[in-house]
Amino acid sequence: MESAVVILFSLIATSLLLCIALAVAWRRFGQEAHAAFWSLAYGLSAANWTANLLKLCFLPAGSSLTLMSAVCSVGSFALIALGFRRRAGLPLRLDAMMVAATVTILLVGFALWGAASSGVQRSAVLLFCAAMMVVSAMSLRKTGHDGRRATGGAAFWMLALFAAYATGLGLLALFGGNAGYDLYRLLFLTGVPTGLFGVGLFAMFLLAADLAEGMRQVAASDPLTGILNRRGFEQAAEPLLARCTGERRPLAVVIADIDRFKTVNDRFGHAVGDLVLQRFAAHMSAMLRPGDLFGRLGGEEFVLLLPDTDGREAVAVMEAARGGLASAVHDLLSIGNVTASFGIASLWRGETLREMIQRADEALYRSKMDGRDRITLCPLAPAGKAVRYEQWTADEPRKAVG
Ligand code: GH3
Ligand code: MG
Ligand code: MG
Repeated sequence: MESAVVILFSLIATSLLLCIALAVAWRRFGQEAHAAFWSLAYGLSAANWTANLLKLCFLPAGSSLTLMSAVCSVGSFALIALGFRRRAGLPLRLDAMMVAATVTILLVGFALWGAASSGVQRSAVLLFCAAMMVVSAMSLRKTGHDGRRATGGAAFWMLALFAAYATGLGLLALFGGNAGYDLYRLLFLTGVPTGLFGVGLFAMFLLAADLAEGMRQVAASDPLTGILNRRGFEQAAEPLLARCTGERRPLAVVIADIDRFKTVNDRFGHAVGDLVLQRFAAHMSAMLRPGDLFGRLGGEEFVLLLPDTDGREAVAVMEAARGGLASAVHDLLSIGNVTASFGIASLWRGETLREMIQRADEALYRSKMDGRDRITLCPLAPAGKAVRYEQWTADEPRKAVG
């Protein structure tokens, strides 16, 4: 009796600590609804253990406390699952959740007032717990939004293990009879709090991991256009370059620079200049495939990395982009037009990203020198060898330039 009281006290304290920690995380980490769900779940968990403690100390035969404990447990497991679904951006399915919770509570009620065995009462809550842990684990896998980078998949396996444990324990409660009660009690008091504590710990961990991921994304993206910034581009480009080099796949890099952009700013103001940059980024993004990288190097200069694309194919994509640019921005400027110049280089074996970008930059310089609004391709050639550029303009498709 005394050791059960001590255990229940420590369970109340642990649940309250998790409730408070998750509430602080909710407040500090962007007030995400799933953190609030999880915090409430542990508040209900503390209420559940409190009901158990009161029952043990004062009302050993109290049915209403047992029912209250079951309601708190069911609410707590449901909130945990709702939190995981909310975090993954999945529909909450409150209707299905309410039906399952009501059936569970009714089963507990039937058992308490003699219409079903006490095994049914214990197993109903445990099987509901198992179902909610399965829902939580599936939510982690369904969207790929699983924090695997932070937990190495451990959160999923922890939830799955807890679900399996609760199922086994529920079946023991249902079919174990009086003979299995002691074993059931031992396994319940050791396993269920451990599972709940583990879920709370991983919930905290996922909140921190999501926050870190958000900060990583902010650090890697350009606030004006929403595409990668120089740092984000370089971080993503290095592994892509290594993969293409290792697998001998073609790769093209493009540097794009808006022509006479300073004049756009001077004539129409900085705000319109910003809008042109946003439209340009959106226009180029629409041309790209999912594996392509697109970033803003700074000012009105952009970079693209196109895997499985050779120089000529990259020219074709940029020709389409260059051709559609005027209509993408025409409503922003009352007079004149926006054009851009492009320099393209395709991967030469063993080249670094910096070397590739430098060759594309030299090609871009040719585009600017030869009159702007054009694409220049730097042909493949080992470093140091003289190269013969090729150029594409609206009026003159493909000509060789010195
Ligand atoms: P070129 O055809 O040779 O590329 O000439 P340009 O005028 O486009 O190039 P230049 O480098 O002379 O001017 C770039 C201008 O871009 C100058 C700078 O004020 C402007 N700029 C850089 N960043 C931003 C920005 O975030 N918003 C706006 N509106 N303008 C910017
Ligand atoms: Mg420019
Ligand atoms: Mg420039």
